[in-house]
Amino acid sequence: MHTRQTPALDRLRLAAAVLVVAIHTDPLGSFAPDANWWLTRVLARLAVPCFAMLTGHFLARSQWWGLGRFCRRTALLYGAAVALYLPLNLYAGAWPDLRDLLLDGTFYHLWYFPAILLAAGLGRLLDRAGRAGLWLAGALYLAGLGGDSWYGLAVHLPGMGAFYAGVSCLWQYTRNGLFFLPLFVLLGARMQQAPPSRRCAGLALAALGGMTLEAALLRGLDAVRHDSMYLLLPLAAAGAFGWALGQNAGRDRQARRLSVLVYLLHPWCIVLLRGVARFFGCRALLVDNSAVHFGGVLALSVVLGVGADKALAALRTELPARTLPPHARAWREVDLGALRHNVRALRGALPAGCTLTAVVKADAYGHGAVAVARCLWGQGVRDFAVACPAEGMALRRAGIGGQILVLGWTDPACAPLLRRWRLTAAVTGLDHAKALSAAGVPLTVQLAVDTGMHRLGIPASDTDALVAVFALPHLKVTGVFSHLCTSDGRSEPDRAFAQAQCRRFAHALAVLRARSLDPGQTHLQASYGVLNPACTGGQVFDTARVGIALYGVYSDAAPVDRPPDLRPVLCLRARVAAVQSLAPGEGAGYGLAFVARRPTRLAVLAIGYADGIPRNFGETGGVVLLHGVRCPAVGRVCMDQMLVDATDLPGALGAGDRATLIGTDGGQTLSAEEVAGRCGTITNELLARLSPRLGLVVRDA
Ligand SMILES: *Cc1c(COP(=O)(O)O)cnc(C)c1O
Repeated sequence: MHTRQTPALDRLRLAAAVLVVAIHTDPLGSFAPDANWWLTRVLARLAVPCFAMLTGHFLARSQWWGLGRFCRRTALLYGAAVALYLPLNLYAGAWPDLRDLLLDGTFYHLWYFPAILLAAGLGRLLDRAGRAGLWLAGALYLAGLGGDSWYGLAVHLPGMGAFYAGVSCLWQYTRNGLFFLPLFVLLGARMQQAPPSRRCAGLALAALGGMTLEAALLRGLDAVRHDSMYLLLPLAAAGAFGWALGQNAGRDRQARRLSVLVYLLHPWCIVLLRGVARFFGCRALLVDNSAVHFGGVLALSVVLGVGADKALAALRTELPARTLPPHARAWREVDLGALRHNVRALRGALPAGCTLTAVVKADAYGHGAVAVARCLWGQGVRDFAVACPAEGMALRRAGIGGQILVLGWTDPACAPLLRRWRLTAAVTGLDHAKALSAAGVPLTVQLAVDTGMHRLGIPASDTDALVAVFALPHLKVTGVFSHLCTSDGRSEPDRAFAQAQCRRFAHALAVLRARSLDPGQTHLQASYGVLNPACTGGQVFDTARVGIALYGVYSDAAPVDRPPDLRPVLCLRARVAAVQSLAPGEGAGYGLAFVARRPTRLAVLAIGYADGIPRNFGETGGVVLLHGVRCPAVGRVCMDQMLVDATDLPGALGAGDRATLIGTDGGQTLSAEEVAGRCGTITNELLARLSPRLGLVVRDA
């Protein structure tokens, strides 16, 4: 189906690039100087703010995870631009110095690059700072404004003369550095939903009208030092941006690239056109006629831009791709929309006052811990739990903040790493606590209490030991938790045991509080403690550590007290590597464990036990979807391949076709619960064993 889309934001970018060309070529200069003034000194001043707003908008839309990549790419582009303009620097006899490079840009339009790098980094901090961020960005803008078009007035304020003299030691104009772009990056970041489009258009037009008066007044007062900034410019730019945001659907990558190339190349085109005019002696037409000059520069910029775009594209296709397509062999598909839905559903299922701790151990149960944690961060989740320090470090390296609790035993030798990566260790016994304390590094820890599972933790009855941990030097106890071991069962004994665990936990907390010790964050339930609330008799703690349910699946097919509306997040798929025809009596695979009884068509799938498929999958009744039809797994699963009997599958089958091991294909679904059941295990094990060597396709609808 073809739907018409308006990539308004990318068109806005292109329009902004054209306006920048206008600023540098004065299109109406030789006909109507006043109109030209309005076009280039008022209207076109919207262009650069729009660029910055687009940057802020797209960076904030993905929670600023792309900031590092943006900065690397922008720095690379800037480097290329510096090299491109070096001949003109040399021709003009001015070799750019380090100050130009880092602060003002090495050519007149290149100021934007150092400024946007600074503003993007600052924008992230300002965005995190809430309302204060907006005030600060506004204050910076006002300070810059006084050094720009309001200079003649602002300089008379006490101290401002010295201030602007100081600033001008760093930047040629207050537009160039700290003062101008951060506000627009922040406005773009904050405008994620479009306000009503009519109001935006109205605001943009009214602000533009006001800005015209403002500019005319300042010009009349001879106050203008430079004319990039006006008091009403942020309103006009926000209005224009909001209006485009409201129309926006889809994207136009070519427009996006072309706008950058036109911006980059047009000063060279001005020089080239002048050269041509001089050579052919047609200066009067090509340069002195301002409209022809503007049109010529723009056309040349577009032609060179399109050419450069093509050349770069050809270069890209000639280079081998740096990464394999993730679905080249066998892969997981992770649906972030489903993950977000589950967060909402689970928060709805939690008792009031109980927050969600996301358990993302074992690569988020095979779902890709970084992608999952980043998505959850965007949903406001700030508490994460992992099994070991290495998992926590991987999340921190990916930029995840908040609390990361290491649930398992941690070697006290890891204490400096825990500190370095701000990981919270679980104290699993009094001796463990003493060893962690003896490392002499300040650590935050949570106290594991054993309420009857007999796995990890200080026994709930050993209250002296619990109390003793609080007195150990270097350890700061920020929470106390325990773990239920029968909450997935609904039998009378299971339930009675869980309730007893809950009572012991509550008693241990009461003992600590009676000694005036603050247990901090308290938690007992995992997924099944939430799904079967009767197991805790309705007791509420500060948070619940939810793992399997977050991924939209149950451990098995057994019913629960209160099933929330969960959606499975993961599909597991693999490609057909080969199709084999066997005559009756022929065998296949290791040990020839499969023997054909009839003329048989076997599909060899490119997935094996090293990817997480149990070796005995064929013997325990495993099935796979091929073209939406259930086909039995046969023979022994190999390390990297497995065999499927596709004889009863109607139609052709060939190498490269897609098989589904978990998920939906052609109206048929293999749920994780069913597959785990066929493997004789629970989904937790099946998913946690999925190998990181599987590709990861993240869908973010
Ligand atoms: C793994 C784990 C969880 C999460 O369990 P689910 O049943 O997947 O929700 C919670 N707490 C502890 C201590 C764990 O080890």
